[in-house]
Amino acid sequence: MLQKKKNLASYIVVTLIITLMINVVITWFAKSSFKEIDYGTFLTMIQNKQIESVKIQDDRILITPKANQNASVSDKKIYYTGTLNDPQLVDKLHTAGVKFSTPVKDMQSPIVNFLLTWILPFAMFYFLGSFIMKSLGKKMGGGAMSFGKSNAKVYIEKKTGVTFNDVAGQEEAKESLNEIVDFLHKPSKYTEIGAKLPKGALLVGPPGTGKTLLAKAVAGEANVPFFSLSGSDFVEMFVGVGASRVRDLFQQAEKNAPCIVFIDEIDAIGKSRDSKMGGNDEREQTLNQLLAEMDGFDSSKGVVILAATNRPEILDKALLRPGRFDRRVIVDKPDLKGREEILKVHGKNVKLDSDVNLGEIALATAGAVGADLANMVNEAALRAVRMGRDLVKQEDLFEAVETVIAGKEKKDRIMTEEEKNLVAFHEVGHALAAALQKQTQPVHKITIIPRTMGALGYTMQMPEKEKFLISKGELTEQIVVLLAGRAAEEIVFKKATTGASNDIERATQIARQMVTMYGMSDKFGMMGLESIQNRYLDGRPVQTCSTETSSEVDREVLQIINNCYEKALSLLKTNMEALSKISSHLLEKETIMGDEFMEILNSVPR
Ligand code: ADP
Ligand code: MG
Ligand code: ZN
Repeated sequence: MLQKKKNLASYIVVTLIITLMINVVITWFAKSSFKEIDYGTFLTMIQNKQIESVKIQDDRILITPKANQNASVSDKKIYYTGTLNDPQLVDKLHTAGVKFSTPVKDMQSPIVNFLLTWILPFAMFYFLGSFIMKSLGKKMGGGAMSFGKSNAKVYIEKKTGVTFNDVAGQEEAKESLNEIVDFLHKPSKYTEIGAKLPKGALLVGPPGTGKTLLAKAVAGEANVPFFSLSGSDFVEMFVGVGASRVRDLFQQAEKNAPCIVFIDEIDAIGKSRDSKMGGNDEREQTLNQLLAEMDGFDSSKGVVILAATNRPEILDKALLRPGRFDRRVIVDKPDLKGREEILKVHGKNVKLDSDVNLGEIALATAGAVGADLANMVNEAALRAVRMGRDLVKQEDLFEAVETVIAGKEKKDRIMTEEEKNLVAFHEVGHALAAALQKQTQPVHKITIIPRTMGALGYTMQMPEKEKFLISKGELTEQIVVLLAGRAAEEIVFKKATTGASNDIERATQIARQMVTMYGMSDKFGMMGLESIQNRYLDGRPVQTCSTETSSEVDREVLQIINNCYEKALSLLKTNMEALSKISSHLLEKETIMGDEFMEILNSVPR
């Protein structure tokens, strides 16, 4: 509330200052071009014929002197003097040949006069007033007069213009939403037979997979209005506002039925009420209101409520029971085919060269979500423009993938020759370990050009096809590849550097997961020791074992890592010739592709 008062006060102060400044400017302007003289001087000027013309007003006489007559008076100035009871003035002026006149009053018609004096100020006040109201209202949400009213209106879209064709690679989700579309088309088909349709569906999935897009597409397919609000829109500082917004939203929705109400990021209000952190009155009230409204409204009218979240596990159980959000539509990260389709959808918006192979890009982007892919296509187009081309080429797309994964190239970072040399050996260490083992992904590219996100160089591997199951052997080999960077440094330079920190982190993570989650250690067998929370967000594992077991887990993880490091060392030691040959080649060229790498590797006798 304080905030708003402050705004009003500052608004008034600013207006005052502006008015004052305008006044000052006008007076200054007037002062500089008008000059008062006494009546005697005026008469002398008449006698000396220094005057061009005279305007006689009620209380003053304005005098325009002849140009260049008087050196002491600048040309532009107009003089004025007060009126005296001087009946002979007119005669004097006439004989001196001065043009003179007096303004004619009230030439304006009475109507114009009335408009100017009454209507104009009134209109100005009205507009000013409504402007203030509006700008205040925007900040308070829902107009200053209708405090707490839903601002759902702001977000209503009569036509979203999005269809299922715009959402690629979410076939299962689309299938489950199709029924809702059909229902919105023809509610009677369902109500006649006595079927009740779900009141709401909850879209669940990681950020950027297209949940919001899907909700819009449902509205677009069904050709109904789309009300969308974000969960945080309900949460206000003032207790009761959120609840009244919910009420208002549902009222409006029923008026506009059939329609879709979409509550994005519903976890902002739907958080479980039994939280340990202590309750939040406002949020609980809002949630209760939402629950009540969802029970209360008549779904046969054709209002369907969609909600999206990436933290389904923290939602209040009451929200999820039948009759509320009883349908759960999983919108997961796209697989290989899905990624290719998403790339195709977004590729339509840019001009692609004939050499573009989107399948290859899809292979290189395992784990990317729709938003990432859309971003990559755009980055590629931007790069094509930078390069002065009018078509997007495959290399633009690959570069965009790397930009999204590792950041932009940072060519101006100055590294010493020794550092560069070390990075080259480090990266070739990774690449060799990948190439010399059987179950690893082939090397796609090796580079020692630093990136903005911290990498001094990197080795990119690319799978030949997407895999859903990974064996223990493959995981072990992955760890060996990750540790081979440091192993190369150790062998060639006999020292350890900080450059391997990310490798170490990832290797440890894999090793730990092997022990605690995948049942791949001899000691614990198939005992689960960690479970994943927030599956759709960071997917961080949480320990479920005792502290004693935990320290044993650490020992087991260390064992795996040590074994893998030994393996990496021995792999590289037996291939020293290839290591130094490829490293010096890389040092010279800064970036080499996979086939170039394999060529050199194969030319070295083993
Ligand atoms: P979410 O709501 O799941 O976080 P959005 O629906 O806001 O993600 O998606 C963000 C953007 O990413 C969309 O506007 C779209 O351009 C792109 N996108 C995401 N998923 C897809 C998909 N399956 N098909 C096409 N584009 C997608
Ligand atoms: Mg969203
Ligand atoms: Zn590395």
